[in-house]
Amino acid sequence: MARIQLQQLAHAYGGRPTRPEDYALRRLDHVWEDGGAYALLGPSGCGKTTLLNIVSGLLQPTEGRVLFDGRDVTALPPQQRNIAQVFQFPVIYDAMTVYDNLAFPLRNRKLPKAEIHRRVLEVAEMLELTAALQRPGRSLGADGKQLISMGRGLVREDVAAILFDEPLTVIDPHLKWRLRGKLKEIHQRLRPTMVYVTHDQTEALTFAEKVVVMYEGQVVQVGTPQELFERPEHTFVGYFIGSPGMNLLPVTIAGNSAVVDGEHRIPLAPQLAAQAARSARTLELGIRPEFLQLQRQVTADGVPARIAAVEDLGGHVLVTVVLGRRTLKLRLPEGSELPSEQAWLRFPPERTLLYADGRLIIPGGGHG
Ligand code: ATP
Repeated sequence: MARIQLQQLAHAYGGRPTRPEDYALRRLDHVWEDGGAYALLGPSGCGKTTLLNIVSGLLQPTEGRVLFDGRDVTALPPQQRNIAQVFQFPVIYDAMTVYDNLAFPLRNRKLPKAEIHRRVLEVAEMLELTAALQRPGRSLGADGKQLISMGRGLVREDVAAILFDEPLTVIDPHLKWRLRGKLKEIHQRLRPTMVYVTHDQTEALTFAEKVVVMYEGQVVQVGTPQELFERPEHTFVGYFIGSPGMNLLPVTIAGNSAVVDGEHRIPLAPQLAAQAARSARTLELGIRPEFLQLQRQVTADGVPARIAAVEDLGGHVLVTVVLGRRTLKLRLPEGSELPSEQAWLRFPPERTLLYADGRLIIPGGGHG
């Protein structure tokens, strides 16, 4: 397996790109460490497949280099890169047995028969395909066929990486959970470098050790699921990850407060307020629905608000509050005592983040 390095990589489908918008993939530097489990997460059209196809060699980048273990493979075709790729739809030989499908990539590489047998049985067992080994591929449903596709990637010990492009699209919802768990288990056992493309945050967060979040052709954050949740470095990450996403409010700064619509003052950590006050950019305050607090009585740091709706979502309640002209969401434990209408919001300073032109302001640092 390999360490994959992307250097100054960029791609435009049309000729002669000039503006940033001309690029499907804007310039990026990135590393996938050997043996890591990564997800590439972002909405449709953000450039995930473009990036994956550049790594596998199906696409030549307009700019930059791809290195496997320090070796420049940018000009190499897919066959010479030794990448296994699992697509949205299963790619298998219908007429061959499941066994032969799994053995195929190894026979191609002229591995000894005994070695092929050992690997096929091992992978079949991991994917729970042992009982189906002698059946023809066509006799399996879409789920089973996709398992074979995955197996054909996993069976090879020599691959630089296994790339998955939305592999669970055809899988029945109730099986998705199981398969995701299975992939994670297999990763822990074999430690291949895995890159898993998805637009589904649950899939990304449950599968990956590190998630690469993409937005409009850019990587906006690379982090563990916890980092993405607690410290989104871009408003897009705040909004895209979480259910519901982060509350975002346009603000100005006055002293140690963020001011919403010129009248509602939210206390900030002083260092953060000072740094934000120096920024000439558009400022937004961000707080997760899980971190916002609701109080029934007025306090020094409480911001008056009105409760507009309470939904019981089983296990937690989702509260919608109105602050002036703005609407915010809170996610509270089930059974929380709620005020009837008038309430005071508390924004814990350690959980209250500020963004300048979409980028996290890091006190003492700059932008994320
Ligand atoms: P999806 O989840 O819908 O597959 P994605 O994140 O994988 O989306 P890409 O398929 O990489 O995104 O597309 C990124 C951008 O490049 C989009 O604007 C898309 O329209 C454009 N694009 C993709 N393939 C081509 C192509 N062959 N020719 C021209 N433009 C393309």
